[in-house]
Amino acid sequence: MVDGDVHLDVAVPQLTDSSVLNQRLTSIADRLVSSFRSTVRREGGASSGRYHAMTVGWQLIGRSDRAIGIQLWVAQQHGLRVSIDRSVVWYDSLTQRMLDLPELFLPQAWPAVQEAVARALGEHGHEKAPVLAALSARGSPETQRVAFGFSSDGDLVLSLPAGTLADDRPLSVRLADAPLRSRLSAAGLSAKSAAAHPPAIVAAREPDCAKLKCVALTFDDGPGAFTAELVAILAQREVPATFFAVGNRIAQSPDLLASVHGAGMEIGNHSWDHRELTLVGAADMKRDLNRTSKAIADVTGQRPTLLRPPYGAQNKTVDSVSKQLDLAEILWNVDTLDWLYADAKRVENAAVTSTGRGSIILMHDIHRTTVAAVPGIVANLREQGFTLVTVSQLLGERPVPGQVYRQRAVTGVQSAQRGANRG
Ligand code: ZN
Repeated sequence: MVDGDVHLDVAVPQLTDSSVLNQRLTSIADRLVSSFRSTVRREGGASSGRYHAMTVGWQLIGRSDRAIGIQLWVAQQHGLRVSIDRSVVWYDSLTQRMLDLPELFLPQAWPAVQEAVARALGEHGHEKAPVLAALSARGSPETQRVAFGFSSDGDLVLSLPAGTLADDRPLSVRLADAPLRSRLSAAGLSAKSAAAHPPAIVAAREPDCAKLKCVALTFDDGPGAFTAELVAILAQREVPATFFAVGNRIAQSPDLLASVHGAGMEIGNHSWDHRELTLVGAADMKRDLNRTSKAIADVTGQRPTLLRPPYGAQNKTVDSVSKQLDLAEILWNVDTLDWLYADAKRVENAAVTSTGRGSIILMHDIHRTTVAAVPGIVANLREQGFTLVTVSQLLGERPVPGQVYRQRAVTGVQSAQRGANRG
């Protein structure tokens, strides 16, 4: 639904055999929509010139005879303020009740589990009290902020949302299966068996792009107004992608970049202010790229290993500075021209028709039409048998700093292809 400057897109599932769960999901959606609308009223809608958007998406993360797990994504933007919240609801079809985190465990075992989580986070220097508070928080599922699920290996994965701790990032904790096993309740065992495939809150096992038909979606120039919505769309479909972020935009909305990173996306360097690097001297270029890498590391905890030079403009100086800064240069071999044609169908066609195994597809998350094209692109590429991965996953081994990549080279012609790119 588009209503002036208010954009609302809410989807929750309705299962045929679980009316209690359906009612709960519907009431969550109703409450989210009414809280969204009241924020719009309070802050001024279209007439104020402010953009408001909310996207709610969902994904089934597990299903057994007894337990059903559903993850909800809520991406919101009010003016410049952007947030992505993730929550998980688990339903016990035997008792016809929603499952809270503590109910996964035998009552006498729950304190020890809380201690184990606090200890795991304590190893990273996080305080204990707010962790324990977050774990015992009960209430409506949309306010029960700790998302939980099981990996395919049976490990329990908890995700504490941004803001739980002084550290403002979402935090994940993984507790190994073996010590947990004897502590699970019957409902917990059922939820665990329901997680037949890894939930999205767990990083999936690294895909082997030497064997699979892999392709990487890349999004440049953000983070921007449509980034949160895009990330919700990708996360709901379990599509990891690579975002080449511009330093000055990170400085404007570090929380937004944190959400992109928190959703499992890869972050690369796209320079501080999008200057054409071939027109910049080496010293200046080094300062610019280093500052951008540092801004990314400040938010994500990791310095990027990938650079996309603005406009794809690259020469020997760019190679040499990239090498010094440990950045591989990532260009593309499929250009959607999404900045030129504000037409979602056209962008979708461009992305899916010339893509082959190992392709890197260029898009920009600062265009609404690009975001609108993404669901179709994902569906189409998957139909063609492609596995969607990040650039680092696509390239497999750590890409070489100072080296230019336009795609995953087919074995045997890799060195020749690289040579050609350098010309
Ligand atoms: Zn760009």
